[in-house]
Amino acid sequence: MTAPWDRRRRSEQARVEELVLGPWLPAAVGFSSTWSQRVRDAGLSTRSLRSREDLALLAPTREVDLLRDSGPGAPGLLMRPTEDQIKAHATRSTLMDIARSIRREGRSGQRRAVLTEYKPIHVHRGGVDADLAIAYSRRDLDRLHRAGARAAAVLGLDDTDYLVSAVPAGPTLEWWGVYHLGLGSSMLALHPRGAGDPLARAIASFRLLPVTAVAVLAGEAVELAATITESAEVSCDRVDTVVVVGPPPDAERRAAIADAWRAAGANRDVRVRALWAPSEARAMWAECAEGGTGLHTYPDMEVLEIIDPQTGATSPSDGDLTYTSAGWHGSALLRYQTGAYVEGLSDDACPACGRTVPRILGEPLPAAWQPAITTEAGGERADLRGAAVVLAGDPAVEVWRIEASPTAPRRRTHRVLVEVAGRLAQEDADGLARRLRAAVGTETLEVELIADPVVVERRVEELGSVFADLT
Ligand SMILES: [Zn+2]
Repeated sequence: MTAPWDRRRRSEQARVEELVLGPWLPAAVGFSSTWSQRVRDAGLSTRSLRSREDLALLAPTREVDLLRDSGPGAPGLLMRPTEDQIKAHATRSTLMDIARSIRREGRSGQRRAVLTEYKPIHVHRGGVDADLAIAYSRRDLDRLHRAGARAAAVLGLDDTDYLVSAVPAGPTLEWWGVYHLGLGSSMLALHPRGAGDPLARAIASFRLLPVTAVAVLAGEAVELAATITESAEVSCDRVDTVVVVGPPPDAERRAAIADAWRAAGANRDVRVRALWAPSEARAMWAECAEGGTGLHTYPDMEVLEIIDPQTGATSPSDGDLTYTSAGWHGSALLRYQTGAYVEGLSDDACPACGRTVPRILGEPLPAAWQPAITTEAGGERADLRGAAVVLAGDPAVEVWRIEASPTAPRRRTHRVLVEVAGRLAQEDADGLARRLRAAVGTETLEVELIADPVVVERRVEELGSVFADLT
């Protein structure tokens, strides 16, 4: 007998993870051209990938890598199994489903069973510039629904609640995550704000329902409360939970949001709780009703790691939140570096609610290493993590720093400058620049050789090793 998803002991969680990854990894790799190629490049065999340890043999991947390999939307991530591949890699339960469907409906039954499990039928856009298509199969939408029910329970919401969501409609994780949170928990929910609608469009809903919970983008939480305060016609006196959709705010910001809602007439004890995941994830994680103790994740629906962006190695503390979409079909992400800086991941039971799932600590910072730079050719992203890995891996480089800054005072165009010192000649620096441009994903990167390492060391001390000044 296994405990509920949020009360399992560490050993039980590991066993469930093995049960999910064992059949999922070979299917995720075998059915996608991008992952098949990456596994071949790493000298591994698809069938040998079964566990977290096997997964660690694959190098982490960033958005810029996927878009470079597979083009806009990264269609190579989509799962498109052939009949032979299904026989070779599909999970046992899927094969049994297919067999049952064939017995009942013949050839068309087989097709339907495969479509239900794998065929992408729903997409949201992920990545810093929303360039990745994150695809869901019919079965994945059931998982999204289940994750929504879990998030609602963690937030302390249930079927007696009335939710108004001011999240604007769109092909985003935020919109679909909140939509399925409402459905999954059987609460009565209204999602009144269309794409491009002003925030005030949500106000009228407060006249229709005795609203107890509000979902609103983190940056709009105070403004929505202020709009209600100004309106003589609506009341929010039953609201006791404000779900801010975005990374958990710091204490000061959280208090400001709570104050604004109290001023608008909400419950004196109104709770402000975050609901967030990187845009490439499949479902959002919630903070628990009992305390702001970090985002409560779903260990049977994903594998999370933290990677040091400067070396690409696993970090025991803070770093780049790295995501594997364990168990999800449609498309798959394996050891995907989201670019979100997080302070750590805790396996200890939550001190507030006692749930035993891993919690993401601190205030995550999305796109921490991916400044948007403007060049003569237009806007683009420079993913500075790739440069850090190249530089850290070159034995001739002794000291380095990266700076993204305007090309000249009052100019709107930017350049990425890498300053290096070490045992390098000019032709080594040219080769290094080529590798760095490929890793960063921009052609505008320049390398400057500095003769005296002390000069670079001093600038690292004063300004930091990775510095983006795009103001
Ligand atoms: Zn908790």
